[in-house]
Amino acid sequence: METNRWANGLSRRRVLQSMVLAGAATLLPRSFAAPPTRRLGVALVGLGGYSRDLLAPALALTQHCRLAGIVTGSPDKVPTWQTRYGIPDANVYSYDDFHRIADNPDIDVVYIVTPNHLHKPQTLIAANAGKHVWCEKPMAMDAGEGEAMIKACRDNRVQLAIGYRMQHEPNTRRFMEMAQTRPFGDIVQLRADAGWFGWRQGRDEAWRLDPARGGGAMYDMGVYCVNAARYSTGLEPVAVRAWDETARRDIFTGVDETMRFTLEFPDDIVAQCVTSFGRNLNTLHVDCERGWYELSPFQSYDGNVGRASDGTRFTAQLGERPRMQAEQMDQDALAILEGRPPRAPGEDGLRDMRVLDAVFASARGGNERMRIAR
Ligand code: NAD
Repeated sequence: METNRWANGLSRRRVLQSMVLAGAATLLPRSFAAPPTRRLGVALVGLGGYSRDLLAPALALTQHCRLAGIVTGSPDKVPTWQTRYGIPDANVYSYDDFHRIADNPDIDVVYIVTPNHLHKPQTLIAANAGKHVWCEKPMAMDAGEGEAMIKACRDNRVQLAIGYRMQHEPNTRRFMEMAQTRPFGDIVQLRADAGWFGWRQGRDEAWRLDPARGGGAMYDMGVYCVNAARYSTGLEPVAVRAWDETARRDIFTGVDETMRFTLEFPDDIVAQCVTSFGRNLNTLHVDCERGWYELSPFQSYDGNVGRASDGTRFTAQLGERPRMQAEQMDQDALAILEGRPPRAPGEDGLRDMRVLDAVFASARGGNERMRIAR
């Protein structure tokens, strides 16, 4: 009996799956030719800290994708990567010949993990080459760039997913659900604080202090606060006021060390946020009519933990680092294979960029209240 139910369920799922795939077939990009059981070949663009320490090891844990190629401006890194991950010569590119990836059927997805000013131009190269794009946060330098990235991917009929790993983390997903179910009544206010000693890390991170390359705390960590405020309420903010509270102008020249900002949401919900390169901050706290809940940390590589005013503990874990990134990439690969949108599509990144544009404008313009573009 149990076996029959399972078998029936399985065949129903197969029918549904084949319907989805049949429906999606007309949307499939040029590079997609294999059956859906195949692992997608992923090329990492930029072999810095995040690619090396988290994404490459995570790809080894995925079920639906694999590390197939690399794009780098550092030839000295190539032998180590080729040996460690068995990457053939044909799948190694420099930034200059990256566009030739169009001719490589072994690569389905290009994952952009470079400094922020390169996200847009590299997304355009990958999309025009007919490859799906995964792009790190923040999506771009501003909303205009984000719009161009979405258009390029749409025109080339490839997916664009943003590397918002938290949206794949189980306790964060619970917060996203609670934004809809509101177990403690209406949300009244929230607080999202994210910061780290970014400028001290000693990696190849001069770009994190360079305004032209997308440096500063707001791009790096503030985007987590913005995304969290949006997924914790399930609402889009309408206006913001921001204060650049950079203390050490000798280190932070032209970029923000600390940014404080207040987001106004519909229904009079207010989110108070602080992001900083000078302080460790990592808390998301939601106050409701009849209680509160919080995650602290809310953007950890090792998973988030938290509690609520009724004694609930949020302890679900994906497993050890880098399981979160493996889950993110598996989910994004399945979205491609099943022809459905990813959990964090380009449009999600774009909404955050519109908020960031308004934050920077307010901080520059005497902390004026800025409306957020729709
Ligand atoms: P990193 O400095 O460690 O690596 C950047 C890489 O880009 C280096 O290999 C560098 O050689 C290369 N690069 C190419 N062109 C460059 C240029 N013009 N200037 C400087 N470097 C250049 O940085 P990272 O920590 O790996 O961050 C890369 C991207 O990943 C950023 O967008 C960052 O926001 C994002 N990131 C996301 C997470 C996350 O949890 N989702 C974590 C870390 C970084």
